Amino acid sequence: MRYRLETDTVLTMDDMFRVFRPGQITWQDGTIVSVGGIGGESIAVDQVIKIPSGILLPGFYNGHNHAAMTLFRGLADDSPIFEWLEKHIWPREAKLTADDIYVGTLLAAAEMIKSGTVGYADMYFEMDAVAKATKESGLRGWLSRGLVGQDNTALDKLSEAAEFARRFSHDPLITPMLGPHAPYTCSPWYLERVAEIASAHYLGVHIHLSESRDEVNDTRAKFGLTPIQLASRAGLFQVPILIAHGVYIEPDDLPYLENLKGGVVSCPISNAKLGNGILPYALLKQAGIAVGLGTDGAASTNSLDMFQEMKAMAWMQKVREGNPEAFRAQTALTMATRGTAAVLGFSGGILEAGRPADFIVVDSQSAHMTPDIDSVANIVYAATGADVLYTVVNGQILLAEGLLTTLNEADIRREAQERAKALLSA
Ligand SMILES: [Zn+2]
Repeated sequence: MRYRLETDTVLTMDDMFRVFRPGQITWQDGTIVSVGGIGGESIAVDQVIKIPSGILLPGFYNGHNHAAMTLFRGLADDSPIFEWLEKHIWPREAKLTADDIYVGTLLAAAEMIKSGTVGYADMYFEMDAVAKATKESGLRGWLSRGLVGQDNTALDKLSEAAEFARRFSHDPLITPMLGPHAPYTCSPWYLERVAEIASAHYLGVHIHLSESRDEVNDTRAKFGLTPIQLASRAGLFQVPILIAHGVYIEPDDLPYLENLKGGVVSCPISNAKLGNGILPYALLKQAGIAVGLGTDGAASTNSLDMFQEMKAMAWMQKVREGNPEAFRAQTALTMATRGTAAVLGFSGGILEAGRPADFIVVDSQSAHMTPDIDSVANIVYAATGADVLYTVVNGQILLAEGLLTTLNEADIRREAQERAKALLSA
């Protein structure tokens, strides 16, 4: 089937940031056939969708998530990070079953599709359940089994992760990665084993690094190295790497980050809410490091809405630099789309022929999107996830006129509510 969607504004996010008003996109199977002004090409299509007042743009790639943590949304909010993890999150995570994780991931998928996310990078456990939910939803997933390397089951978990990766190595929508949790939960020896397996199986690595000041101070005290330097010594930067957070990356770290395959994914709301700090974006940009955007899990961020994340990113950089010109709306939108895609080594995030048909349409008809003086500013500073009308992933329409096509939201909500209640009372 070949489709065309016509609407009044198309933001291509290509290298020239071309905008078409009105504009159209034509796609077949999972690939964009053409993008341009209305009537600009004459390719026959099977179906035309017309949206009079919409802004069409690449969908968002959420570069860091723990999707099933939606079941813990609102649990022990406003606690310090290590107290929150040790007292509240980890004891409950120990009780999660594969079915809980499946339902929690479905809930996250429903929320992500409804708010314009087309793909996400996840680190969790029971990854077959996560993959099943992701496949059912139609989203793209870069999925990694979280690895904690401090007990003798650590190597078994690594074999399990490699086996998961082998099974999904040819999946069109799932890209397996390895997910060593962090240097404070994995020993340097274990990180070296992860790097070896990643290299041998051509896998990328997803890891939390330099998220909090305590983490950096503890790592320095214990090993005489920053988390970035420790990860580099372990060989993790020899393979494609997704560094979640990077809030405390320092000038001393930059030589270790040269020629990085991958980049840093910032989660500004999670970093703010846990009191961790603000990404040194200017430092990373100057060093030529790719930077994407993510939400982190719903237990720390509460919402998986990437519109909120773009706003938070822009606001916090302006505050950090004390300068409103230091970070622009277009930079936030770039990070959420082609920025995260670049970190993942993926060709999405740009609307042009031959690229993946991953895009969204945002309603521009509402009061808060009026007038349309600057569509990019409206998307970043005025819109919310609730404004998304269409979400298309790999050419498949997952959200049409604001309604999910692959998932039953009412059933998922009911099931998630019951499981969350049972987990909290256990
Ligand atoms: Zn995380």
